[in-house]
Amino acid sequence: MENETGRIRMDSSSDTDEDDVGLAQRYKTIVELTVDGFWYIDEYGNILDVNTRYCSMTGYSYNEVISSPIWDIEADMNRSQVIYQIDRTKKLGKALFETHHFKKDGSLIDLEVSATYIDYGTPGLLCFLRDITDRKELEQKLQESERSKTVLLSNLHGMAYRCDYDRDWTMRFVSEGCYELTGYQTEDLLGNRLISFNDIIEPGYRDKIWNKWAEVLSRKETFQAEYRILTASGEVKWVWEQGKGIFDDKGNVIALEGFITDVTRQKTIEEELRESERLFRTTLYSIGDAVITTDIHGNLKQMNLIAEELTGWGEKEASGKQLEDILVIINENTREPVDIPIREVLRVGEVVGLANHILLISRNGMEIPVADSASPIINEDDEVIGVVLVFRDQTEERAAREAIAESEARFRLLVESAPEAIFVQTDWRFAYLNPKTLKLLGAASPAQLLGKNVIDHFDTRSQDTVKELIHGLKGDKQDVHLVEETFIRLDGSSFVAEVAVVPINYGGADSVLVFFRDITERKEAEEAIIKAKMASDIANRSKSEFLANTSHELRTPLSSIIGFSDLLIEGTMGELNEKQKRYVTTINKSGNLLLNLINNILDLSQIEFGEMDLECVKFDIVDAINDVHSMISILSSRKNISIDMDIDLPQRMVVADNEKIKEILYNLLDNALKFTPDGGRITIRAIQKDTGFIQLSVSDTGIGIPKDDINKIFEPFYQSDGSTTRRYSGTGLGLTIIKKFVKMHGGNIWVKSEPGKGSAFFFTIPVLTDCTER
Ligand code: ADP
Repeated sequence: MENETGRIRMDSSSDTDEDDVGLAQRYKTIVELTVDGFWYIDEYGNILDVNTRYCSMTGYSYNEVISSPIWDIEADMNRSQVIYQIDRTKKLGKALFETHHFKKDGSLIDLEVSATYIDYGTPGLLCFLRDITDRKELEQKLQESERSKTVLLSNLHGMAYRCDYDRDWTMRFVSEGCYELTGYQTEDLLGNRLISFNDIIEPGYRDKIWNKWAEVLSRKETFQAEYRILTASGEVKWVWEQGKGIFDDKGNVIALEGFITDVTRQKTIEEELRESERLFRTTLYSIGDAVITTDIHGNLKQMNLIAEELTGWGEKEASGKQLEDILVIINENTREPVDIPIREVLRVGEVVGLANHILLISRNGMEIPVADSASPIINEDDEVIGVVLVFRDQTEERAAREAIAESEARFRLLVESAPEAIFVQTDWRFAYLNPKTLKLLGAASPAQLLGKNVIDHFDTRSQDTVKELIHGLKGDKQDVHLVEETFIRLDGSSFVAEVAVVPINYGGADSVLVFFRDITERKEAEEAIIKAKMASDIANRSKSEFLANTSHELRTPLSSIIGFSDLLIEGTMGELNEKQKRYVTTINKSGNLLLNLINNILDLSQIEFGEMDLECVKFDIVDAINDVHSMISILSSRKNISIDMDIDLPQRMVVADNEKIKEILYNLLDNALKFTPDGGRITIRAIQKDTGFIQLSVSDTGIGIPKDDINKIFEPFYQSDGSTTRRYSGTGLGLTIIKKFVKMHGGNIWVKSEPGKGSAFFFTIPVLTDCTER
């Protein structure tokens, strides 16, 4: 076989030449017709045949290829790698791989090699080499675009998606942002595997979104909405979505594609902004002063109701106008227009106050006195972006100020003419002195004392008290202390005064208002009284001492008088005639009376010296009443006077001085008998008081006590009147003593009486007397 591929003997064992020619022809045709390059190589890497396509792909001639070893053309493999690849193909029978060949011009060509091992004729490889440069390029481009898409999507704060148009919004694709946005992994959402997107949408928004999509899709427009979602962690987020429908040829929706992003922060900021705007407007409109704000050019932006009232302009119509057109102000005195200080504020960037005596001319010509100030509105970058002007109607303030001035004048007149000495001290110095103070301190004019140290005008012993008193003032005006201190006059003499101090603010300084009054005369009178009282106490004491001593001395001779006169009356010393008996009886009676008097005096002086104690025991009070009753019954029957008992005591046992209780009762019964005419009636009552006291009373149907005497009968030696004294014997000490006894028990004694009808004496004693106390 003789042709360019003559070295190849495809089938050396073929039977005839004709057959060989036919076969070689068929082989050649196939090799030349194929669109790929073709090599036939032997097991050692020699290229035995090559087709025209390969030559045109690489720029080599047939002979150039045939004469080169493979590794000269092969770019990716060296010789041993080539031999290895041939061996591998031989073993496997087939191989498909990609490689690069050097073209004749030195550049590279991308090839896909499909090699098949044959072992008839010359064993070797049939290689089809496909130019895949275009495919590679395309692949690379695709990869590139894929990568940039992924990079883009993963860098977006949000989730790109493609989903079905169904109520679940079944996701077919979601970008990585899904996790950051919803807290669910992309796999969780795809095909509603764990949760559907519809379930992530806050329930209140689900229908709204469905309806809005439907409407947008019907018009084939872009969908845009803001709504809230619930993330995997339960957090609520505001999201913004934009998407569009994907339609088929017939206009049916086959999918939705779009992007969803978290706008919670913007929403919060928006909300905060609205909130602060609301707050600002509320503040502005509730401020008691008129407020106007302007922009950087001095054009009015806002004004509150008060500003509207004062200027006569409404916010809407004034908005955007130059402030000078709205706010017209003039000087009250010159009536010249005055500049509003906004220009200055805009220039200087600081607060500027308005001049005094300013009148605002309102839209309807009214003139209103105003005071105001203007402040710059500064932005974050410290730039002035406008002005706030605050002004106030001063009509009332002026009236109030006038009223204060008037009241001050009145008050000053009051203080000046007050009979009380009044001064004000600031920082321990006289700041104001009224005429009375000047007079008391011996000053001819205020100049002599104003600014002088206040403390110097107090006696050294008073200085500390005065300092303490003033230091102790805590601004509490109710807290007025009265003290008596000694003042020193300018001439050095002194006087005692009653001082009161009150904290005040005087001329802007913390000061003290001091009132004082010369009490020298009162002091002298008080001292005289104290002296007299002391003298009388001493006298009283020596009188009691004297009485106690003399009583003793008197009782001894009296015992003889009574004892011997008793003997004489009894006739032991011989019978006496009528006259003698009468005289001796008188001696005896007078003696007994005197003894009674002396005993009473002794009791009284003992009580007054505090020498008499209670001897408390537990006893039955009813027994004590009965004892006294039987003691007095002889006397009562003699006068034909009945003694009734009315006793209602659930608790009869008491702790008290038994003897003294009986003495009290006896005395009262004795008096009752004495002052009740024959045939009268006496009642003893005893009742329980729920306060732990027993109340006893002795009432009679006797002569009674005149109203004027009721309060005096408990005083020593007091007897209702001279005539009764003579008629009814007595010392006038009985009630005095028993009152002391009752008091020693901690009880009370009192009387109710009506002249001619009778008297009732009441006294109380505790059921349990605390005898240690007395
Ligand atoms: P006297 O020893 O004079 O009775 P009292 O101190 O017991 O002294 O009484 C003082 C005065 O109280 C009596 O002098 C009498 O004027 C008046 N008086 C006391 N008890 C009665 C009574 N039951 N009825 C009327 N007057 C009484």
